[in-house]
Amino acid sequence: MDEHYAGIINEISGSKQISLSQLEYILTNEVSSNDEYLFETARAVAAEYFDRQVYLRGLIEFTNYCKNDCYYCGIRCSNSNADRYRLSEEEILSCCDLGDRLGFKTFVLQGGEDPYFTDDILCRIIERIRSEHPSCAITLSIGEKSYESYKSFYEAGADRYLLRHETANEEHYNRLHPGAMSPENRKRCLYELKEIGFQVGCGIMVGSPYQTIRHIYDDLIFMQELKPHMIGIGPFIAHKDTPFKTEPDGDVRRTLLLLSVIRLLFPKVLLPATTALGTADVMGREKGILAGANVLMPNLSPVNVRGKYLLYDGKICTGEEAAECNMCLRRRVERIGYRVTDGRGDHPDFAS
Ligand code: SAH
Repeated sequence: MDEHYAGIINEISGSKQISLSQLEYILTNEVSSNDEYLFETARAVAAEYFDRQVYLRGLIEFTNYCKNDCYYCGIRCSNSNADRYRLSEEEILSCCDLGDRLGFKTFVLQGGEDPYFTDDILCRIIERIRSEHPSCAITLSIGEKSYESYKSFYEAGADRYLLRHETANEEHYNRLHPGAMSPENRKRCLYELKEIGFQVGCGIMVGSPYQTIRHIYDDLIFMQELKPHMIGIGPFIAHKDTPFKTEPDGDVRRTLLLLSVIRLLFPKVLLPATTALGTADVMGREKGILAGANVLMPNLSPVNVRGKYLLYDGKICTGEEAAECNMCLRRRVERIGYRVTDGRGDHPDFAS
């Protein structure tokens, strides 16, 4: 490990600021033995607030219908090969019951932007989860909505909202999405969600087509401005039925380096080692935790639909039962010397 590298990492960690040239230096540095210093520093920062604890969030993929047509995503509306499904209210509720039995304290309802799920339907589902599982957090990940819709979800009992901004750069955004979507609207959503009182998560895909280091730098600056409670990043992985089918997958090492950089800039953030990272590398989720991540999102969806919620090719855990995913992840966490905690895992500034 060289002194110069360590000096830069310590400077970022101390100031919680990063310059474009520092980011370039970290991401283009070819001495991989240096990486370990960054990972170690990020782990130490995470340990200050979270000890060696990992939070589990049970992910319920409740619909793969989507009205959007994002070029990277396997459930985009133009993909006529996608086998569409939506879970019923009762099915969603029984996923939560199972999650509760498995010890999860957060349920994440994720889906495409499916017009079938009106605000009324969603609010009823949220209210039922809230009353049947009063000690659990409810996280939504259902895309761009109006202020009024977000407000009604919050009042129905939702606590958190995940909406990756995907890229802060307008030109890059427009190369990943059709004209009907805009970066302004996505950012508007994030700021409104925060204003309403949600704990909010933004994020990006690492190695999305046309992404440059400059874009990633702009993403970090955007994050510093938004001050999210959660940040979701994972490698881009091509899906065979999308316009990006021949694009190269995002780089695992770069994803890990960025997890660490994010941990240094946002010591208290809730940071998942994502399923995409676990798909790109069999040990990806462990490596993510060892780079400073502190959240895992086991799949709670019914097994009969898992193979249909495919945002990218090769997704892991599509054949397992929720109980197996739960045990597997707990074992993986313990094997690297961390432990799964049974707290709700709110942002430290948010603890109620
Ligand atoms: N419809 C919701 C949920 C989107 S899916 C929303 O708009 O927020 C959650 C995330 O999966 C997306 O934000 C995107 O960053 C990621 N994703 C989609 N396609 C992907 C791919 N091909 N590779 C890796 N991640 C992908």
